[in-house]
Amino acid sequence: MNLAVIGTGYVGLVTGACLADVGNRVTCVDRDQAKLAMLHAGQIPIHEPGLADVVTRNLQAERLSFTDDLATAVRDADLVFIAVGTPPREDGSADLQHVLAASREIGDAIERDTVVVVKSTVPVGTCDKVLDTLRAALRARGASWQVSVASNPEFLKEGNAVDDFQRPDRIVIGTDDSQALRLLRALYAPYNRNRDRLIDMDVRSSEFTKYASNAMLATRISLMNELSQLAEKLGADIEAVRHGTGADPRIGPNFLYAGAGYGGSCFPKDVQALAHMATEHGVPADMLNSVQTVNERQKRVLFDKVSRHLGTRLAGSTVAIWGLAFKPNTDDVREAPSLALIRDLLAAGARVRAYDPVASGNARREIPDPALEIVSRANLACEGADVLVVVTEWREFKSPDFRWLAKTLQQPAIFDGRNLYEPDYVEECGLRYYGIGRAAGE
Ligand code: NAD
Repeated sequence: MNLAVIGTGYVGLVTGACLADVGNRVTCVDRDQAKLAMLHAGQIPIHEPGLADVVTRNLQAERLSFTDDLATAVRDADLVFIAVGTPPREDGSADLQHVLAASREIGDAIERDTVVVVKSTVPVGTCDKVLDTLRAALRARGASWQVSVASNPEFLKEGNAVDDFQRPDRIVIGTDDSQALRLLRALYAPYNRNRDRLIDMDVRSSEFTKYASNAMLATRISLMNELSQLAEKLGADIEAVRHGTGADPRIGPNFLYAGAGYGGSCFPKDVQALAHMATEHGVPADMLNSVQTVNERQKRVLFDKVSRHLGTRLAGSTVAIWGLAFKPNTDDVREAPSLALIRDLLAAGARVRAYDPVASGNARREIPDPALEIVSRANLACEGADVLVVVTEWREFKSPDFRWLAKTLQQPAIFDGRNLYEPDYVEECGLRYYGIGRAAGE
């Protein structure tokens, strides 16, 4: 098929490249000229494992191209995907300006009957607004092409996006247009062979499914984080509790980790937007609000532990941080717990020496303060530092040389924000150990 994908970010670029990889001709549109210049030069603007190979292969095969010319891209397209950002507004609601601007531009440009597919995460009812916008644009130029709008939320996980797209656990399509459903079924057939993963439903349910999924996942994390606080006080180890609890098939072991709070570009904004939708419709959002409150509190837990450990020595101390990305295998630092920790440490008069395999540039743009030094190797962050805080569970942090750390850190202590280490072993090596929800070190 001929496809246009509007918005070439984490979702749009992965979607465009993967759909080209199975034989479609895909034009990815973006208005960010810096991003386009990189892509034209064969560089990938984001860190996503495996993505560079897929992009390069399909550029070379001339199935994938990049442009800022939305009109030409959509004119010939069987399906037009909208994958632009939907960032949070001040009041927590999703900002639809990019989605609606793209819809207007599509309506101004199409020259045939067209199915527009909304991949961005959008509040329930947005596809109706997209349809109204498209029709208004068509009316304004006296055009009478048939347009329909389908919802097709994206469930890929940053850090594993290519694999998630190529091997989805479900493909959700919301549409009341049987022709649109036929086209989308055909498009996704390559990913839907050994069992039917395609779940079709009405548009509103589809839009809602994305928010409900993220709300469910964020709730699991916040509940584990709240339980971890209590475990510490009760002298229990949340890691043992996690194993014991996750063994129940009704609960399951996945996504049950206590940690430094969730971040990223989705959970925080989507839970907020869902709570806003509830309030708008007079429905209580007690659970959703609590999930957010617990998360904000959890993002301070590492700072509180460091501050208790260092006491009056905190101001003037140097804190090493491993991990800036909001999770491993991505360079995304949006809403990352590391940023909250660094801001708190700097405000308390500490210096920070941080290391991340790929997210340094993005973190530096967020925090230009020279009291944050970003170094190019994990061990460099620890040289001359007082204590070490591990915020992101990158693989290279999983088995550090604890004895070297004990000799190198000035106040040898490790704050394990992801419960990666065995407390007893770390302490045997000469470091104080502080985990999340573990009595050790408290
Ligand atoms: P992003 O910020 O990485 O990319 C969005 C891109 O759209 C940017 O490059 C921007 O320049 C471009 N853009 C904005 N308006 C445009 C326009 N009118 N014409 C052309 N380009 C335009 O965003 P993202 O992380 O890819 O997220 C996109 C959507 O997908 C959001 O709604 C998000 O909630 C949802 N989503 C994201 C993820 C994720 O892991 N990042 C996962 C699932 C769903």
